[in-house]
Amino acid sequence: MPTIPVGILGATGMVGQQFIALLANHPWFRVEWLGASHRSEGKAFRDAAAWRLASPLPEDVASRQVDAATPGRAPKLVFSGLDSSVAGEVETAFAEAGHVIVSNSRNHRMEPTVPLLIPEVNADHLALLDLQGAAGWKGRIVTNPNCAVVVLAMALAPLRQFGLKTAMVTTLQAISGAGYPGVASWDILSNVIPYIGGGEEEKVETEAKKILGTLADGSVSFHPVTVSATTTRVPVHNGHTASVSVGLEQKPSPDAVIDAWRTFSGRPQALQLPSAPPHPLVYLTELNRPQPTLDVNRDGGMTVSVGRLRSCPVLDYKFVALGHNTIRGAAGAAILNAELMHTEGLL
Ligand code: NAP
Repeated sequence: MPTIPVGILGATGMVGQQFIALLANHPWFRVEWLGASHRSEGKAFRDAAAWRLASPLPEDVASRQVDAATPGRAPKLVFSGLDSSVAGEVETAFAEAGHVIVSNSRNHRMEPTVPLLIPEVNADHLALLDLQGAAGWKGRIVTNPNCAVVVLAMALAPLRQFGLKTAMVTTLQAISGAGYPGVASWDILSNVIPYIGGGEEEKVETEAKKILGTLADGSVSFHPVTVSATTTRVPVHNGHTASVSVGLEQKPSPDAVIDAWRTFSGRPQALQLPSAPPHPLVYLTELNRPQPTLDVNRDGGMTVSVGRLRSCPVLDYKFVALGHNTIRGAAGAAILNAELMHTEGLL
């Protein structure tokens, strides 16, 4: 039986529902509390939100009453998939009240003492948690990156050894990344929208530098890579694809680059955490892969698929990467963060 009770803030949303689905059979965590807006407060979950995932809504969650997004009644560990218009204030209130918040929202990601975590890439950044008490928080806040950044940062992490200098990325992002109801069907069907609001391109250009940075003397030195991003919304259900060109100081062979991706591994694999994929990055040799339809659910949606490595006439190499935005880019990422924290004695 799972022994650690958890809560979900924003439980009724796109990411919140993915939390519920992924935690349904989790070996350590069991869902004991749901929080959302006043629109949902006081209703049974099944009356507050239409279930939008293919896996069944667990019966115990369906009948659970949704609470207000206020601290007090939730367990110590709370996952957050709150809308960013409220996440900053609400998550701070929970941390002040002693909760450990593992968040998907952008609001706290770039704060100097808040880990912006991909456990395979920068597990050591959890040491920042020691500094959060100074903010007057009895609890703690840990964040995972923006859903497009996860794909980029995981693909770039093994390239740091080759002197990663520059990255130009154009994303093709799924509609589930816009929440529910998200983009109007009239706007997205048969279409590509070359703009994603909420500072999406700025997030891609800055968050990756923090994640790939090094921790020294209680702060993160950002990685010097310069990132230029164009983000687009495409009519795909799940899966953010990224077309990436990179500039590298050294000139590794294509085989060396592919080997770096294929052998990439981290703390989650060493610790065999429940949500850790066996291989965080998979390189596909077929010329027409990765594709969202075929590759997005690899290893429960926790693997990032890479393919089409070739020379770039402008920079050095170019390739395509793909990851599941609401799993590796959101709920699955946060659960992996919490698993690592539990194993490291931080819960
Ligand atoms: P969503 O479907 O719009 O869900 C938003 C959630 O926030 C709902 O549960 C909603 O509750 C709740 N909420 C809204 N206003 C509130 C308020 N005033 N007080 C309390 N709760 C409130 O959005 P989403 O796609 O799940 O995204 C959630 C967060 O994760 C966002 O910050 C987003 O940027 C981030 N994120 C999303 C993805 C993705 O792929 N979708 C990936 C990474 C990160 P009600 O149902 O009661 O309104």
